[in-house]
Amino acid sequence: MKERYKLPRGMKDIGPKEMGLRLWISDRILEVLNRYGFRLVEPSPIEGLETLEAKCGPSVRKEIYWFEDKAGRKLGLRFDLTVGLARMVASRRDIPLPAKLAALSNMWRYDEPQHGRYRCFYQWDAEVFGSPLPDADAEVIALSMDILDALKLENYEVRVSSRRLAEGFLNSLQIEKLESVEATLRVIDKFRKVSREKLAEEFYGLGLTEDTVEGIFGFMAIQDSPEKALKRLRELGVENEKFQRGISEVESALDVLKAMGKGERVILDASIVRGLGYYDGIVFEIYDRADLGLGALVGGGRFDRLCKLYGRDLPATGAAGGIERTILALEKSGVAGRFDQKPKVFVASAGEQAKIKVLEIVARLRGLGVSVEYDLKGRSLKGQLEYADSNGIPYVLIVGRKEIERGVVRLKDMEKRVEKELGFDECLKLLSRG
Ligand code: AMP
Repeated sequence: MKERYKLPRGMKDIGPKEMGLRLWISDRILEVLNRYGFRLVEPSPIEGLETLEAKCGPSVRKEIYWFEDKAGRKLGLRFDLTVGLARMVASRRDIPLPAKLAALSNMWRYDEPQHGRYRCFYQWDAEVFGSPLPDADAEVIALSMDILDALKLENYEVRVSSRRLAEGFLNSLQIEKLESVEATLRVIDKFRKVSREKLAEEFYGLGLTEDTVEGIFGFMAIQDSPEKALKRLRELGVENEKFQRGISEVESALDVLKAMGKGERVILDASIVRGLGYYDGIVFEIYDRADLGLGALVGGGRFDRLCKLYGRDLPATGAAGGIERTILALEKSGVAGRFDQKPKVFVASAGEQAKIKVLEIVARLRGLGVSVEYDLKGRSLKGQLEYADSNGIPYVLIVGRKEIERGVVRLKDMEKRVEKELGFDECLKLLSRG
């Protein structure tokens, strides 16, 4: 390919095999969203730059695709679906509360491309707007788990905590100014991404003392079954109100999950804080145990202050999962190889005289909902069979003059390499049965 027509960095095409898998993944996800009563919508892919900045501040310009349109408006491509959903729900007062909205689409981030990290990628996203209860947090966690189960990704773990709990803990260590708390949380968020030495270096870089850093490491190490972790957290003896509220919100959400029969895979992990400043309650991440280096498959949490920025004060909580990372996890577990888009039948003509009959059969099969291909290249019978074989088409119907005269067709099973003669109607019935 000519160098100048290369794809831009971080972008990729999706071939038919991967697309087959993606369609299967989307179907599973939509089916689970429907089971949970989420309504599917699609926020606009382009937002005003101000709308995008409202969530993350002007520094977000470095991390997104933004531009001026021909009329000089500053616009940006969406970097997540939460912004659009929050903006939508803030402007649509006709949607009854709590509003359970979901979307599955692509987004763009000017991220550094690496394993499981692209500049254009797909997410499913589900948000509950208008409920302050931990039940709503548990609902999106349960939904995320059911989505992974439906995708047959059963080797995952759910790490839950509360941003409030972490903030309360930092306050108890005299880290109280908002900027210092947020900067410290951003370092804590790197727990799974960088070494302990690097983390310590970053904490010291924020001006924290040795005792404080040790205290934070002790807090981050609380990663256990909910009962044990709650006991360890209480033993820290932190009395501030935020910390206590954090404990009780985590406890309530975990109780709901337990009652739903979803307690087993859940770990209370105090190091989960989510990097972005707008989270303020329960937070969670889900990891594939077989590939922890992949990063979170799903992440989410409560963001009670975000909708107010868009003009409507609504508590909210939600989850988002990455489709590309899901595909990488499925490939590792061996599930991915089984999906492809290929026709079920190739109708081959043995000789020119059979062509009209081939077209008639093709039309009838398609009318019955069967996926069918036939020769569009004027190939010999041998060439047609080779084509069907190399495309993994499981059945070939061979139609020749002699067969037409006798009212039959030859059906070849390409996998078993066997061929049998069938009456025309019998064959159509057989192939349309699935
Ligand atoms: P976030 O919106 O950053 O909370 O991400 C939610 C999910 O989207 C993550 O758990 C990942 O699965 C996925 N994700 C985030 N960033 C990327 C990226 N650059 N490339 C691919 N997937 C991503």
